[in-house]
This record gives sequence, C-alpha cells and structure tokens, in this order.
Amino acid sequence: MPKVDTVEKLFLNEIKDLYSAEKQITRALPKMAKAASSEELRQAFQTHLEETRGQIQRLERVFELIGAKASAKTCEGMKGLLEEGSEIIEEADEGEVRDAGLIGAAQRVEHYEIAAYGTVRAIAQTIGNQEVADLLQQTLDEEGKTDKLLTKIAMRVNKQAQSQSQRNAA
Ligand code: FE
Ligand code: FE
Repeated sequence: MPKVDTVEKLFLNEIKDLYSAEKQITRALPKMAKAASSEELRQAFQTHLEETRGQIQRLERVFELIGAKASAKTCEGMKGLLEEGSEIIEEADEGEVRDAGLIGAAQRVEHYEIAAYGTVRAIAQTIGNQEVADLLQQTLDEEGKTDKLLTKIAMRVNKQAQSQSQRNAA
C-alpha cells in the first residue's frame, strides 16, 4: 500500500471511499424503497436513487479532473450503516414502525455523506481546485436536501407509527 503522505493523495483516498459508498447506496435504495409502506417515503428513496446515480457520475468527473482513474476503495463505514438498514427490514414487519426505522437508517447514511463530502470539498478548496470543489458542493447540497426531506417525512410517519403501536398493543 503506498503511503498517503500528501493532501492530494488523501483527497484521492477520500474520493475512492465515497465512490464505493455511493455505489453501495445505489444497491441498497431499491430494497429500502421496496420495504417502505409510506408512498411518500418510497418516492423519496426513489428520487434519491436517481440523484445518487448522478452523484456517481459527478465523482467520475472529479477523478477525470484530477487525472486519476475512477476506482472504489471499500467504504466499511457505509457497509455497516447499510447492514443496519437491512436489519430493521428483518426486525420490523411492513408498516409505519418499520418506515420510522428506515428513515433512521437513511438519515444515518445522509449524515455520513454530508460529513464526507464536506471534508473533500474543503480539501479541494484548500488545494485550489475550485471546479472540483463546486462539483462536490452540488452533491453536498443534494444530501442536505434529502436529509431535511426525511426529517419532514419522519414527523408524519412517526405519528402513524404511534397509532400502529397502539393497535399492535391492543
Ligand atoms: Fe450520495
Ligand atoms: Fe445521499
């Protein structure tokens, strides 16, 4: 393994991690959409799947701009987060309680991405690559919007989950 001894190498490392993370997310989102009961939540997952495909293309453009070959370095963090997402599908039957759990899993994913894209955007700015920084900012904005939308959906879904709980307990 070559040493990461420059900020440029660190940047490439981080981009490869994100490339892996986004690819994992495109495989997970269809399963999450299928597992959701709320039409609004399913739609949000579907829309974000389309956005995520665009984010992968943006990362490929970033690789191109820095003169590197597009390649993924397994993002273990995302693997763990997505595993927790599939666990809730196993643990909760279809319905609003499961939806509330799916939102929790999805927001963990978005927060991971917000942290990671914030980091690479800041490094791109530091090394003076504004074009790359702008591309990463676009994705960062989409992740932020998705997170906020999920918070909104959660307010409705949590209420429905509460009524489901009362029915289940009765
Ligand atoms: Fe993403
Ligand atoms: Fe995302």
